[in-house]
This record gives sequence, C-alpha cells and structure tokens, in this order.
Amino acid sequence: MFDFCPNCGLEDKLQRTQIQEEIKVRGEVFNVQAAGFVCHKCETSYSDLDSKSDDPYAIAHEMYRSKHSFLDPEEIKQIRLNYELTQRELSGLLGWGDVTLSRYEKGQLPTEGHNKTLRSLANEPHVLMEYIHQGPHVLSDEKRERIVHRLKIKIEETYSIDRVYEERFGSYERDEYSGYNLLNLDKVYNLILLACENGEFTTKINKLLFYFDFKNFKDNISSITGLRYVRLPRGPVPDKYDFYLANMLDKGALVVEEVCFGEYVGQKYYSKDDPDITIFTEAEKQVIKTVLEKTRTYNCSEISNISHEEKAWIETKETARISYDFAKELLFV
Ligand SMILES: [Zn+2]
Repeated sequence: MFDFCPNCGLEDKLQRTQIQEEIKVRGEVFNVQAAGFVCHKCETSYSDLDSKSDDPYAIAHEMYRSKHSFLDPEEIKQIRLNYELTQRELSGLLGWGDVTLSRYEKGQLPTEGHNKTLRSLANEPHVLMEYIHQGPHVLSDEKRERIVHRLKIKIEETYSIDRVYEERFGSYERDEYSGYNLLNLDKVYNLILLACENGEFTTKINKLLFYFDFKNFKDNISSITGLRYVRLPRGPVPDKYDFYLANMLDKGALVVEEVCFGEYVGQKYYSKDDPDITIFTEAEKQVIKTVLEKTRTYNCSEISNISHEEKAWIETKETARISYDFAKELLFV
C-alpha cells in the first residue's frame, strides 16, 4: 500500500513521518503523535497501522488514565499480588465477572467504578476486609484466615494513633510554640501516667504537663514532649489534651472515676499501666522529679491559681498559643 499514494496516485514510496491523530476515549478527544506516512506530492498523511511501538490508541488510553488518575495495569496487578490473590479470587470477592480483572491487567481501561474500588483496595486495608466478610465466599478457609490475619496487622499500622493524630491535627513544627521539639506521644503518655499514679484530676494533669515542659525548656532549652499549650481560663493546657486522655482510656492505660464535690463533678484519672521512665533523659528525669515534688500538696484550684501568676499565662491572649520564650521567667519551678 505504501508504494503509491491512494489519494493522488503517485507511484513512489511514501515517506515516514509523525502525524497528529485525534482519538476518542470514552467521549473525550486526545491529540496523539503517531507513526505514519506522508505523500511528498499531495501531502496526504496516513497512519501506520502496523506500528507496534507506538500504538496511538494505547497512547490515548494512557493519556486518559493519567488525566483521570486511573490505575495502570501494573498497579492493578500489584494490588492483587500484595494480598497473594489470583485474578479469579479477587474478581470473585468483588463480585466482578471471571475475566474482568484479567482484562484490566492486560491493559483494558477499567470502568470508573471499578477503578475507584481498586484504588480504595490499595489505600485502605479495611476495604478488602469488608469484601472478605460480606462478599461471596470464594476463598478457601485456610487462605481466608491468612489474608484476614495480614489485613489486621495492616489496619493496625494504618490507623495507629500517631497516624490518626497527624491526620487530624497536623504535625507540630519545631518552633517557639512546641519548645523546639517534635511531638513525642510516647513521652506525653508516660508523663500522664506519672501524673495519674495516685489518681489525678484533668486540671492538675494539664498544669503538670505545662510545668514539665516549660521547666525543661527553662533548664535545658527544649520541651520534653513537643506539646503546644494554649491559654484557657483555668490556666495553660496542652492543645487537644482531651484527645490524649480519650485515647489512653480507650487503650486501658487509664481509668476514670467521677468524684462529686457538692454540685461539681470532677473526673479523676488513674494510671493502669506503669510509666516507663527509661524513655526520658537524665536531665528530663530531674525536671520531672522537681515538678512532681513541688506540686504534690497542691490541689486543682491551688495549682490553677499558681499558673495564673505566670507571665506565660498573663501575657498570652485567651485561647492563644503560649510561647516557650516565657519559660525563662517561670516563677513556680
Ligand atoms: Zn499523494
């Protein structure tokens, strides 16, 4: 065919060239550069239907994939292999036809819904778990057990408290509000355990954390935990402190008891786990010891009053973050 031009009839070899082709994928037009031929007399161009290296349809599909962030065949295969599932098993779990997945892995463009499902399988381990529990029973008992076990581990990693914390609140930066330290949840939890060894109320737990961190900043130029503190009416409190307490209750590291004082009901927290003090440096241990000894005999309202004398509290606006720069003028410890 390429020894003459079908358009003008020129009997000569057509020249190889790149041609622009408009190719429709799911109703969208993509401009693709493809291999072709051109007649040097009438300049009519023809696509090279035999070219395997750059199939314009494959290129257009590729463009569609990246425009709509569709998974590519290799990614689809990898999701399946990560769970050691056969094409038939995964198709079955998802309730798809037997050959659907095999086609996708060979290059067919998935439907929008299927692409969405595959992507959520890749990112969220609990999605496959739900299919295994609710979908058709297509796995052998032994295989099902093995995958469920592996998924449980993955789910735990994905939804670990550090992960959830970072997603919900963002990670703190090393600045004057975090005491130039990164948030260390392990240290936060162990300080709370130390504070609650003999039972403690929220107000005092918060003041203790404030004094641990600010005293350490005063003595050792960084906070212990990396926590940020805000000014609330009853004194300085760690940002999102209720989140820490709720998580420790959840994990069984703390228990809570309601204590009545006439009309007022207080929440008293007790440590259930032993604090691990080996995670603190010698200098930090010294600060912790000093603060615990100094505050031992004070109750909530007394320690609240003491914190109200601190410049850190006086000179910070209501609900604003407290700068660790005030630590050098700490009065109480
Ligand atoms: Zn021609």
